[in-house]
Amino acid sequence: MKALPWILGALLLSACHTPKAGTRAEDTAACVLDTQPEVIPVGTPKPGELNEFFDLPDTPAWWASAPMDTERERYRTALVARLGEEGLKQRALLERQNAHPSSREVKSGKREADNSDRVLEGSAGKMGPASCLEWRLFQRQASRYPMLEHPTEFGAYILRGHGRLRVYLSGMGSVGGQLRHEVRDRVVADVANGFEPVAHLHNHPFMFDRKPGDRMYTTELTKDEMGGALAPSLTDVQAYRMMREHFGLKGAWLTNGLDSIHYTSEDFDRLNAWD
Ligand SMILES: [Zn+2]
Repeated sequence: MKALPWILGALLLSACHTPKAGTRAEDTAACVLDTQPEVIPVGTPKPGELNEFFDLPDTPAWWASAPMDTERERYRTALVARLGEEGLKQRALLERQNAHPSSREVKSGKREADNSDRVLEGSAGKMGPASCLEWRLFQRQASRYPMLEHPTEFGAYILRGHGRLRVYLSGMGSVGGQLRHEVRDRVVADVANGFEPVAHLHNHPFMFDRKPGDRMYTTELTKDEMGGALAPSLTDVQAYRMMREHFGLKGAWLTNGLDSIHYTSEDFDRLNAWD
């Protein structure tokens, strides 16, 4: 009983200084990544490579739509200036990618265009706004490399269980990603301990002002291909199928920081991978 007055005092104090339960401010506040997560060391890291682990309370705020904070608004405004409101919509980005010569002149491009068609016709993937979790991970990578001036990709394994949200976030200073066994081994161990492998997430960055031979592996054919469309590549789908087989991956998410598409593990069979 002696502790009671202190508890009451703490409750009263917190009631005065924090938003009421259920308010938007509180939900947003709960969707914040630790500033100093565990860093997972890997052998021979690539330039700028960072592999991080977050162990977070699994609150509803992570799954709500991302807040349109100042940074996200600025990012959106810059994209609208390039593409217009209509051009930034998910369907427009997919259609634009499919109309690009790289989707018609190369066999693998055609097979990737099939993946976009599956999404456009509604037989794979579910479109929606980015969730707060997706935005926070995007934002963390963007804080290391500004996403429009220096496009990069990040990847993340998302797991839930025992009231926790576990995220293994990997990123480096270039487009493309690394799937490290040092990270994957941890994911597999978590799954063995009752965590559900909800999804693998990565971003498809917008890439403007490309020049053949630049850091985005640009060629004559791809120099006007600007990215940002959220259909998985043949390589993506191949990786998803392997993760499903290895540790039971349940889904795959793609985001561009504004919008996302979520794929189920059944979708992996409706989409093309490498032959
Ligand atoms: Zn991809």
